[in-house]
Amino acid sequence: MIGNLLLRFGTDEQKRHFLPRIVSGEDKWCQGFSEPGAGSDLAGLRTRARLVDGEWVIDGQKIWTSDARTANWIFVMTRTDPEAQRHKGISMLLVPIDQPGITIRPIRTMVGGSSFNETFFDGARTAEENIVIGPNQGWQAAMALLGLERGDEVATNPIFFGAEVDRLIALAKERGRSGDDKVRNELVKAYTRTQIMRYLGFRTLTGWLKGEVPGRDASVSKLFWSEHHKVTTDLGVSLLGADALAPTGRKPIRHYRADDPGAPNSSASWVDTWMAAISGTIYAGTSQVQRNILAESVLGLPKEARPK
Ligand SMILES: Cc1cc2nc3c(=O)[nH]c(=O)nc-3n(C[C@H](O)[C@H](O)[C@H](O)COP(=O)(O)OP(=O)(O)OC[C@H]3O[C@@H](n4cnc5c(N)ncnc54)[C@H](O)[C@@H]3O)c2cc1C
Repeated sequence: MIGNLLLRFGTDEQKRHFLPRIVSGEDKWCQGFSEPGAGSDLAGLRTRARLVDGEWVIDGQKIWTSDARTANWIFVMTRTDPEAQRHKGISMLLVPIDQPGITIRPIRTMVGGSSFNETFFDGARTAEENIVIGPNQGWQAAMALLGLERGDEVATNPIFFGAEVDRLIALAKERGRSGDDKVRNELVKAYTRTQIMRYLGFRTLTGWLKGEVPGRDASVSKLFWSEHHKVTTDLGVSLLGADALAPTGRKPIRHYRADDPGAPNSSASWVDTWMAAISGTIYAGTSQVQRNILAESVLGLPKEARPK
């Protein structure tokens, strides 16, 4: 996400410095957007940054920072002009994590892992030039980043989700349910959705090849795959019945290839995947937020009332 953003909006120096390190894996990034009081309403963010002697000094808190403990850089949305209107006084800063001004605390989730974190900034510092686009231009950078976040999996998702539907069909057969009308109907719908995802992926790829970057229309695919995943894994868990009460702790099955003979089709892996699927309708903007975006900027419906 940040690599693609810098390709489009970074300075020559930022591209020269950061892009090779992203490609080599030397730098690992995490995303500092959400705060305890600012998730869907990102413009409500309160983390502050001010320029002091050629450096940005940052104070505040982020939450739900995925993989912050394995990352060495974070891109952070900060308020740099507290007097400006809420969308206008924001800047996106690129901040090294390994410094005394940053403290990271893990959050344990119901799925058992703790890749989530709280990230505290207490006089954290970064160089003045580590800013995307420019001071108080952060909203533009954030919207572009979110378009990339919502759109960048569009072409690869059908592969993962197609493999998952294959496993679901195998599960229905294993459980003797593949002759059941209702199950067959749901399997066909799930398969059909993966084909729709394929065409959405082609459309996005074609756009990339023409030099377009996913914009607000990326909400279509984000909403589509995440809602698909919720109902599809729900069917998996229903097929398991009482066996779905089996202990969890396996890697979600979406991460295995269809032709991987070692991939599990166990109750534990389906239950983990089902629980993880719920989060897909939350991160990168919730389904409700995607529907608002589509209603307003794609369908042209009146804007919902928002705080000024
Ligand atoms: C797996 C996962 C990984 C994440 N990783 C990161 C990360 O790395 N970095 C990061 O910054 N954040 C991350 N997040 C946080 C994520 O971006 C937020 O959880 C998300 O934006 C929702 O914000 P919130 O949790 O504050 O919920 P809220 O904004 O409080 O929303 C609560 C409920 O109200 C609904 N709602 C809110 N506003 C509206 C509206 N205007 N109209 C209709 N309904 C509305 C929402 O849809 C939701 O159902 C992650 C979240 C998850 C689940």
